[in-house]
Amino acid sequence: MLRVDVAIIGGGLVGASLALALQGQARTRGWRIALIEPFAPGDGYQPSYDARSTALSYGSRLIYEGLDLWPAIAEQATAIERIHVSDRGRFAAARLSADQENVPALGYVVENAWLGHCLWQALDAEVIQWRCPAQVERMEPTSEGYRLTLDDETLIDCCLAILADGGRSSLREQLGIAINQRPYDQTALIANITPAQAHGGEAFERFTESGPLALLPLSDNRCALVWTHPSRDAERLLKLDERAFLAELQQAFGYRLGALRQVGARVPYPLVLIEAAEQVRANLVVLGNAAHSLHPIAGQGFNLSLRDVRALADTLLTSSAPLGDLPTLQRYAGIQAGDQARTVAFSDQVTRLFSTDQPLLAAGRSLGLLGLELLPPAKRWFARQAMGMGTRGNPQ
Ligand SMILES: Cc1cc2nc3c(=O)[nH]c(=O)nc-3n(C[C@H](O)[C@H](O)[C@H](O)COP(=O)(O)OP(=O)(O)OC[C@H]3O[C@@H](n4cnc5c(N)ncnc54)[C@H](O)[C@@H]3O)c2cc1C
Repeated sequence: MLRVDVAIIGGGLVGASLALALQGQARTRGWRIALIEPFAPGDGYQPSYDARSTALSYGSRLIYEGLDLWPAIAEQATAIERIHVSDRGRFAAARLSADQENVPALGYVVENAWLGHCLWQALDAEVIQWRCPAQVERMEPTSEGYRLTLDDETLIDCCLAILADGGRSSLREQLGIAINQRPYDQTALIANITPAQAHGGEAFERFTESGPLALLPLSDNRCALVWTHPSRDAERLLKLDERAFLAELQQAFGYRLGALRQVGARVPYPLVLIEAAEQVRANLVVLGNAAHSLHPIAGQGFNLSLRDVRALADTLLTSSAPLGDLPTLQRYAGIQAGDQARTVAFSDQVTRLFSTDQPLLAAGRSLGLLGLELLPPAKRWFARQAMGMGTRGNPQ
């Protein structure tokens, strides 16, 4: 039996970031934190730190700077200097640039494996008790918090349980937390691509008949591809040999980066929008993908969760109430509610609008891109939202 103050279930991008955000003050306050995770980064497959890359917004950079982690992440981060948004078969395009927005970069692309490495290296073993490999099999409320049962039958009692076990959280279901889910009937194909021409720090978002396609700049002149397709079509693409796959991608993307020369392993991710109906209960917070799982094309899911992490850590560290106190947790939920609603709506609407080939909507989309290009306030609003710095609901 282990007794801790905070138990973080899931040491993925979100759980590990929360551990990092709490650890400095936890030491001062004498909090013991357990971080429970079945797979360590570097142990082959790790669900959160797999072959994907993440586009970190400028806002996320600022958060990691505050946690002293940015210098390590930056060693392998590629700056996004420009974003080119276009619509296949239509002339309209919008361009966003770091210079115009007056920021050093619109965002940064980092391989998840590197982010995981940096996070785990930064955790202080004297404050954070790692339980890895270990998995929480059951959790039940007690009079003082939660009791967790691990797969090796260890029991952990905690005052505050953080559920950060991902979008398909089985523990969320066990606790009877309902979800709202809207399947997109789409699958994102992920792969690294090497083009003939230098990407020069430019990211591309292109809307095609089958669904949105993003190519993000990576180190060694590679690009991270996120290509969304109706699920059945994605299965067909996965079976193509390298040459045939690159030929289809080239046709959809065009020649902005010259010939597409090489593709790495292709990994499919079925897409669904999931929102937990409750994010806080007494002694419990649902965080990260377990709380809200978004379509990846707008690159917002982790950036939003990192803002949740920052807000939750600030709320806990400035509260004098006991850990797990419901009004304190509700205060955190209230602080993030607006940001979450706006970001979920932005991702969902961008995805749906740009996944349609209905002529009227597609024409409206072209006008939207044109409007974005011609109207600096709308463009600035879009850029700020995409950079994870949007604080207002409407363009101004
Ligand atoms: C293709 C794709 C591309 C994306 N690109 C971007 C992007 O560019 N920008 C962006 O902001 N977001 C992006 N996202 C979203 C981002 O990946 C997620 O927001 C992020 O992974 C959520 O992290 P998480 O830690 O909440 O969940 P996960 O990454 O799912 O991690 C959950 C962790 O919990 C562990 N776990 C599971 N069950 C248990 C248990 N019972 N006990 C203990 N541990 C458990 C798992 O092993 C895992 O490590 C993308 C998503 C996808 C699918």
